[in-house]
Amino acid sequence: GKINIAIDGPAGAGKSTIARMVAKRLGYVYVDSGAMYRAVTWHMLQLNIEPENAEKVLQEAQNLVIELIPDEQGQKVLANGEDVTADIRSLTVNRIVSRYAQIEGLRVKLASLQRQMALRKGVVMDGRDIGTHVLPDAELKIFMTATVQERARRRYAEMDASEGITLEQLEREIAERDQLDEQREFSPLVCAEDALVLDTTSMSIEQVSDHILTLAHT
Ligand code: C5P
Repeated sequence: GKINIAIDGPAGAGKSTIARMVAKRLGYVYVDSGAMYRAVTWHMLQLNIEPENAEKVLQEAQNLVIELIPDEQGQKVLANGEDVTADIRSLTVNRIVSRYAQIEGLRVKLASLQRQMALRKGVVMDGRDIGTHVLPDAELKIFMTATVQERARRRYAEMDASEGITLEQLEREIAERDQLDEQREFSPLVCAEDALVLDTTSMSIEQVSDHILTLAHT
């Protein structure tokens, strides 16, 4: 039968690329939990609501409908019906998303949405707290890592020069985001006890996804 697969790890470890590929090859649904935190962040920035104002964030989050719609590229992200798929990948969102993600009430709300999406099994979900908090019963848990230098290098290669950031700056920003994600109080980024750790620093995308597929079939 179908299983659920949780893929967690720090920023830029290749989770979304791999999760999307594994889901496609298994005929499963890919759920990008980070996209939900990003969509909330994008929405709050539109409304000028700062992450420190947790009460206001939660109040506004009540009126926000986030939809993840699977498509050929992986998924489309809608915020109150508006397509924000591209907007949520901006450097502005990258720089502040982890501060909204500290808010416990918001995490509770998004985790419950994420659980609903996995009820029927056959889901590959990536994030920071999927194996530990969102889907503790997932049949397969992967904790994907790579050195921060390698993660920054991969991200940098995907960006275009117009984004105006240096590799060194990007590396610093990724490290800062990891630190916030690891140090928050509620459902922090941590490897689940029963997760398989995969250091992808010197692995290709194919090697990583083949490995996970083998595990999924056993
Ligand atoms: O995975 P992605 O880099 O798009 O996630 C963006 C941010 O959303 C993370 O840095 C983290 O702060 C937050 N996040 C989270 N829990 C998840 C997924 C993402 O806190 N399950």
